[in-house]
Amino acid sequence: MTDQQPAIRLTGLTKEFGAVTAVDHVDLEIAAGEFFSMLGPSGSGKTTVLRLIAGFEQPTDGTIELFGQDVTKRAPFDRDVNTVFQDYALFPHMNVIDNVAYGLRVRGIGRKERNERAARALASVRLEQLAGRKPSQLSGGQRQRVALARATVVEPKVLLLDEPLGALDLKLREQMQVELKEIQRDLGITFIFVTHDQEEALTLSDRIAVFNNGRIEQLGTPDELYERPTSRFVADFVGTSNLFDHERSVALLGRAGHHSVRPEKMTVTHDGLDGDGVVNVHGTVVEAIYLGSGVRLVVDLDDGTRVTVLEQNVRGRAHDDERGDRVVVSWHDDDVVPLGTEVLPGISG
Ligand code: ADP
Ligand code: MG
Repeated sequence: MTDQQPAIRLTGLTKEFGAVTAVDHVDLEIAAGEFFSMLGPSGSGKTTVLRLIAGFEQPTDGTIELFGQDVTKRAPFDRDVNTVFQDYALFPHMNVIDNVAYGLRVRGIGRKERNERAARALASVRLEQLAGRKPSQLSGGQRQRVALARATVVEPKVLLLDEPLGALDLKLREQMQVELKEIQRDLGITFIFVTHDQEEALTLSDRIAVFNNGRIEQLGTPDELYERPTSRFVADFVGTSNLFDHERSVALLGRAGHHSVRPEKMTVTHDGLDGDGVVNVHGTVVEAIYLGSGVRLVVDLDDGTRVTVLEQNVRGRAHDDERGDRVVVSWHDDDVVPLGTEVLPGISG
């Protein structure tokens, strides 16, 4: 029963380019039908993992299985996956429907079936009216949807997407995020989505692998990664965190090891808050940034620790915090996330 096998299984996957280890012993299973994201900074190995799965690169070591079959040595066209690239790579001289039908033509499918299937794929991305246009006559978002239709028309079991929304402006990107999710749900195929944008990964994914230096730093649901990061790298990369190193953790929290507290779990008042487990620390407002939906306050605590506090713009919120104000920053002990004792260079507490 191939369907009970994971869509993808990577075992000890490693890719070296000369002295650079781009992918470093990655083990990973992705379930059939999952919307799975690989999230990480530039150069962390995400694209290389995708290219290894697609077969555009050969691993230095390790294996790749698709639905239980070892495809490590197979050519790209012999794997049931397809790729959507960031630059879309549409053929400029072909109109939209011919672009979409291209993969079917290469597979020797006749004109009639080709055009029917391409029309269906175009309808799935709501572009059926633009079938006769050339790519140059489309907006960025429309081109992106053509690329998606072209990749899905051959009905791959797995779709690989390498930063497919990277070229779009914010508004369009947010709109396309919603559409991508709907398309994935409609098609029911496995999406492996690469992004360096943590918000995009959190919004779209069933699960996320956070990459750092060719390795998976943490694997989990968006909720797990955000609420329970297990390292300073993840706490800092996924969302914004106030990081307390060991020394400051001992002083401020009475705990050993590194810790983090999310900005939205902190509150700023003039007199502090009462209650079991509430920590109150005095400080001075350094910056108050109005965000519309909220206010971001940067506060220097009296021991020198700089924290960021995110306050919702709700009724009754005090709007009078200004640079130089003396305040009390409060948070609950339950919202302190332990991060172990590792030391990561480049991230200051
Ligand atoms: P990401 O997609 O996360 O930005 P990449 O997978 O593109 O990261 O790159 C990972 C590392 O491998 C980087 O250090 C990059 O410079 C290196 N790399 C990627 N492709 C090649 C290549 N063809 N030749 C040499 N080095 C490469
Ligand atoms: Mg990349």
